[in-house]
Amino acid sequence: MSEEKSLNFLEEIVEEDLKSGKYPSILTRFPPEPNGYLHIGHAKSICLNFGLAKKYGGATNLRFDDTNPVTEDTEYVESIKADIQWLGFTWANELYASDYFEQLYAFAVQLIQKGLAYVDDSTSEQIAAMKGTPTQPGTDSPYRSRSVEENLQLFADMRAGKYKDGEKVLRVRVDMSSPNMHMRDPIIYRIKHAHHHRTGDAWCIYPMYDFAHGQSDSIEKITHSICTLEFIPHRPLYDWLIQQLEIFPSHQYEFARLNLTYAVTSKRKLLQLVTEKFVDGWDDPRMPTISGMRRRGYTPEGIREFCERIGVAKRDNLIDVGLLEFCVREHLNKEAQRRMVVFDPLKVVITNYEGVEMMLSEDNPEDPNTTQREVPFSNEIYIEREDFMENPPKKYFRLAPGQMVRLKSAYIIQCEKVIKDEAGNITEVHCVYLPNSKSGADTSGINVKGTLHWVSIAHAIHAEVRLYDRLFKVENVANEEGDFKDYVNPESLHVIQNAYAEPALANAKFSDRYQFLRKGYFCMDKDTSEEKMVFNRAVTLKDAWAKEVKKG
Ligand code: ATP
Ligand code: MG
Repeated sequence: MSEEKSLNFLEEIVEEDLKSGKYPSILTRFPPEPNGYLHIGHAKSICLNFGLAKKYGGATNLRFDDTNPVTEDTEYVESIKADIQWLGFTWANELYASDYFEQLYAFAVQLIQKGLAYVDDSTSEQIAAMKGTPTQPGTDSPYRSRSVEENLQLFADMRAGKYKDGEKVLRVRVDMSSPNMHMRDPIIYRIKHAHHHRTGDAWCIYPMYDFAHGQSDSIEKITHSICTLEFIPHRPLYDWLIQQLEIFPSHQYEFARLNLTYAVTSKRKLLQLVTEKFVDGWDDPRMPTISGMRRRGYTPEGIREFCERIGVAKRDNLIDVGLLEFCVREHLNKEAQRRMVVFDPLKVVITNYEGVEMMLSEDNPEDPNTTQREVPFSNEIYIEREDFMENPPKKYFRLAPGQMVRLKSAYIIQCEKVIKDEAGNITEVHCVYLPNSKSGADTSGINVKGTLHWVSIAHAIHAEVRLYDRLFKVENVANEEGDFKDYVNPESLHVIQNAYAEPALANAKFSDRYQFLRKGYFCMDKDTSEEKMVFNRAVTLKDAWAKEVKKG
């Protein structure tokens, strides 16, 4: 990050508020509803809220917006906490909107006492019909003029469980002819006889989003309450409620949702992919969830860099997933340990070599303090089948009859003979090595253009390798007609059951990431067992996708 980088609009607001003394320090919050796992859009919101507070010496609360008992679950609470921590952020307080239910109830009573709220017996259809349209004013509910005493009694009875779901609601009395539909006496409490993951059966009335959110902000003395653009029309109500209740003046600011190409970023849709088994759980490496990206091998540093680079927009936009991959790749390049793994083996016999030698290879050439590892070399090795051609075109720098290549961290070899089976398939290739060409001590004076990765057959270990492609076939999934699941890419997972890896990979750690030479960046998957090691490809080495698209 350069020093001159200009401030985003939220940073400008915060700097102004601190300079003018409006607030001595800032307090932001991240308010997930625990009804699913966090995705890349949430990561943007987390980086924004926590990042802003960090930059200006403030703090951030984690507040679970758990006012909807039906869809919420403690499993989600736990995953959300783990995801935020993994991204590298620490909250000042772990809070729950449900802890404010008593306080919110008291706020509602205050509004009734001020003549600003009433119990409405109308059905939801009747309420909708009376709402009017954006161009036509609404009409008053026949219950709008109930007395304060009657409203207090009815609201207490609602809480006491006297009524069934939907029989009554509490509405605020604002303005039935407001051009803003959200101001036409919105509902602030509804009856819902449902078990809540934290408050159990203590309540059968629950506050609506508009009544819980701003009030929770005020209770916590949040200074800057940042949400996404769709809440702009809610802001007048947010301000009105705070004003009428005379509570801490939190302010709401809006920024554009993050949408990603070839992905969906809606918990509801991601849940469908999980329950209808399009993917193997919320943490499937193809999912744009934080847990999916973690399992796939993305790093928090890469994701944070991505969130920083896309900035804070005020208009909805669609971000190229290639940028996310680029940021992840940049970071992995710096930290990944290099290993050699052959996916599709072709046997090479080195006819003039005997015994076993330990070759030294750098774990990470990007790191000035890199360690080195030993890679065993012998007279029978595997190379990648695609690295050999019997009749190569011009400028083919890999192995071919008569041609020389360097084996990474080992010797130069030259192909002398091609062995085939009866059907004409190449079964092995015979080569000779140049004894004076050893990497690091090469006195052969021969320059070869191609360097291949390889493994010694006798020393190789087996691994399963999982390669991923886009989960969706289309760039802008939300723009397509019909069911979004029709656009799922049926070829998003490619499994190589039996890859051959150099023995150093046997000591792989879950916390480490690897660059398989010429193959991409990988991490060990949780499916790894005593019987088999499993690796996920996080990203390729280069952006193969963009190249494919250009080629047409
Ligand atoms: P979803 O539609 O996926 O359920 P949501 O907005 O309902 O998303 P919440 O749990 O309510 O999910 O979101 C918590 C916070 O994350 C909110 O402040 C919300 O604005 C923000 N957020 C959610 N999705 C995105 C996104 N795609 N880009 C930026 N911020 C987001
Ligand atoms: Mg929400």
